Amino acid sequence: MKKHNFSAGPSILSEYTIKNAAAAVENFAGTGLSILEVSHRGKEFVAVNDEARALIKELLDVPAGYEVVFLGGGASMQFCMVPFNLLNKKASYLDTGTWASNAIKEAKLFGDVDVVASSKEANYTYIPKGYTVAEDSDYFHFTSNNTIYGTEMRYDPDLNVRLVSDMSSDIFSRPIDISKYDVIYAGAQKNLAPAGVTLAIVRTDALGHVDRAIPTMLNYNTHIKKDSMFNTPPVFPIFAALQTLKWYKELGGVAVIEKMNLEKAAILYDEIDRNKLFKGTAAVEDRSIMNVCFVMNDEYKELEDEFSKFASAAGMVGIKGHRSVGGFRASLYNAMPKSSVEALVATMKEFEKQH
Ligand code: PLP
Repeated sequence: MKKHNFSAGPSILSEYTIKNAAAAVENFAGTGLSILEVSHRGKEFVAVNDEARALIKELLDVPAGYEVVFLGGGASMQFCMVPFNLLNKKASYLDTGTWASNAIKEAKLFGDVDVVASSKEANYTYIPKGYTVAEDSDYFHFTSNNTIYGTEMRYDPDLNVRLVSDMSSDIFSRPIDISKYDVIYAGAQKNLAPAGVTLAIVRTDALGHVDRAIPTMLNYNTHIKKDSMFNTPPVFPIFAALQTLKWYKELGGVAVIEKMNLEKAAILYDEIDRNKLFKGTAAVEDRSIMNVCFVMNDEYKELEDEFSKFASAAGMVGIKGHRSVGGFRASLYNAMPKSSVEALVATMKEFEKQH
């Protein structure tokens, strides 16, 4: 039976990515060696690394003055790398969920942190608005998409301070005005590649303004100066990332992908709003188009396990909600086909009919 992978991450990747990654495990770029065993300094892999970074610049329309690097340590490493490199005295953070608050915790090790607003009191069901960011902040940090709670800021804020964003779960899902940002980072394991590599887009003139010594591996400049090849990079995830990026280009780029994403999300949210058994958990105006969170309506709460089993028997994978929200979460990343969203909706309709 066809499986529909709604996992939050690691998550679905395009068939194109998987097919080419599988072929390269056998024979990489005609070398007669597996991608798993080639030197990262060989010309074939250097070309992959360079092409992937160039394609990221092309797809996201990255202006001059920015560099793209692949790093280790996951997005979680960026929670400390950002303040290490940018926080002199004070930084401002928006608290929109678990990942945002993990980033806040790390920043506090480096200086004053002004949490400008938080939606914690409402279990992060909405994105706070109307906050002010002190102009003497070294930067403002926000999580563009809250993977666990299904809320998203699908816009690039206008502020007079440096802007840093964790875009782990919505990068490449829409066009971004990169010129507004100083650092954007994203773990690869949602819209790019298997786990193991993290992408950072860094405005080079944002660096070099802190007084502290920065350990070599945690200094963005180390990686920028060596064309993202200071140490052994995660070769296989970068190869897979390049395949995904080529597929994005083939599809027509991120503006086309955004339209597809909006359509897929609308299909599922419409059903959640229509179906008597379910309700969405995120404030309607802040709903994420990447992670759709929903629970059983109060009067049908006892049907949760039964729906889980029903959906799983119909081929749905990874729709259990995160423990801090409960219910269900369907992640609709770029590689998720519309037909899988329709299959989930058909399952919800069928379950409703039976109750
Ligand atoms: N930030 C966001 C928005 C995430 O969704 C995740 C993981 O799912 C992380 C950060 C942590 O990423 P990693 O596990 O790569 O450290």
